[in-house]
Amino acid sequence: MLYVSTRGGAKPQPFTAVLFEGLAPDGGLFLPEEFPRLSPAELAAMRSMSYRELAFAILAKFADDIPAGDLKRLIDKTYTKEIFGGDDITPVKKLDSGLFLLGLSNGPSLAFKDIALQLIGNLLEHVLEKHGKRLNVVGATSGDTGPSAEYALRGKKNVQVFMLSPEGRMSPFQAAQMYSLQDANIFNIAVRGVFDDCQDVVKAISGDFAFKARHRIGAVNSINWARVAAQVVYYFKACFAVGGEASFAVPSGNFGNVYAGHVARSMGLPIRKLIVATNENDVLDEFFRTGRYRVRKAAEVKATSSPSMDISKSSNFERYAYDLVGGDGAKLRAIWEGLDREGTLDLSGTGYFRRVAATRFVSGSSTHADRLATIRRVWKDYGAMIDPHTADGVKVGLEHREEGVPLVCMETAQSTKFSKTIREAIGREPSRPAGFENLEKLPQRFEVMDADVGQVKHYIATATSRSV
Ligand SMILES: *Cc1c(COP(=O)(O)O)cnc(C)c1O
Repeated sequence: MLYVSTRGGAKPQPFTAVLFEGLAPDGGLFLPEEFPRLSPAELAAMRSMSYRELAFAILAKFADDIPAGDLKRLIDKTYTKEIFGGDDITPVKKLDSGLFLLGLSNGPSLAFKDIALQLIGNLLEHVLEKHGKRLNVVGATSGDTGPSAEYALRGKKNVQVFMLSPEGRMSPFQAAQMYSLQDANIFNIAVRGVFDDCQDVVKAISGDFAFKARHRIGAVNSINWARVAAQVVYYFKACFAVGGEASFAVPSGNFGNVYAGHVARSMGLPIRKLIVATNENDVLDEFFRTGRYRVRKAAEVKATSSPSMDISKSSNFERYAYDLVGGDGAKLRAIWEGLDREGTLDLSGTGYFRRVAATRFVSGSSTHADRLATIRRVWKDYGAMIDPHTADGVKVGLEHREEGVPLVCMETAQSTKFSKTIREAIGREPSRPAGFENLEKLPQRFEVMDADVGQVKHYIATATSRSV
């Protein structure tokens, strides 16, 4: 299988070549030339597979340039009971007749990003070793990506991680998740500033091609294709668990999770509706309701109680838009150049927007008050404690629920990460999973720096030269 750019200007490449790429050289995102279609016989055979078997059956189609034996070994090493708390990996919990929670947050950082990043950590180590290369991953986090990436890459050979985070602006739990790691290949940089300052520094570094080449800088960000591919697996697992066609309610920010559902459906999985749930930062909800996609200015982005969905634009959305324009890279490029110029894209009244209905995407948004009410309701009615992101999904999912169609709500984080909101909603402290009891009391290790590109580059250069 070969991967092309959404903007039509990159030469087709195999999976391992795009594995650690952020943007394609033409500024677009990589995706497969064509989605693999599963035959009814293949789908039927998948029904009884374990998570690991299913992951192999699906990922072997996307990563067909990794020898099957290697891929199988990497998958078997990733999706284990030890790492994900059970052999189900993504357990389905029934709340009510036709209403389910899909547990995606049982990995080491207690957020759904672990499912893809744990695999990427192993793929990365394998490919670097094979090619005798090293990589320095530089990233910025507002809370969930950083811990997931660090837990995925800690202790891995030939990889170092430089993670920028806004000093004093994450939940104490999230900060402790990263800062308590003592692995020699993890470097936490606490920036005096907000998340956007961190991201600006990372962007400046990514734009300095000479520095990037000299220090072998890479990214494992939300537009990475391998992350999408790994997330396709649990849609299959969930449909089989609830017995067939289902709708999915997905708390969304960068559109990576719900886009994986679109890929699963394009492969032949019977998904009815993909329900996009946003918080007050409703870029995606606005698009699906009106056909207008409007990038928010940094000052417009609200700091909410579901912070992992606080985005100004949705980075994987371009891949979906590519499908809306029928896979025509030149057309998508023209549309996206307009978006980059104007900050808005208006597809309302076009044939492209009419295609949205055919893809069965629907949406809705949720507020802080909605989150509190939903957490309270799910606790009272079903005895389940859900986190604020999951609550956004449940709230919007229930608005689109259909009689006779199972509704699967994605549980994207554990409540213990957001204890302040849980206390506000139901007046009690979420329980801590084993091993996390004293997290905030562990010794912490981080450097504090200004949001200064020169200072951060100097730090990275010094650390990378020491390690060679
Ligand atoms: C990242 C994240 C999301 C949003 O997922 P996208 O793939 O960016 O849409 C939702 N909930 C939690 C807890 C997250 O960490």
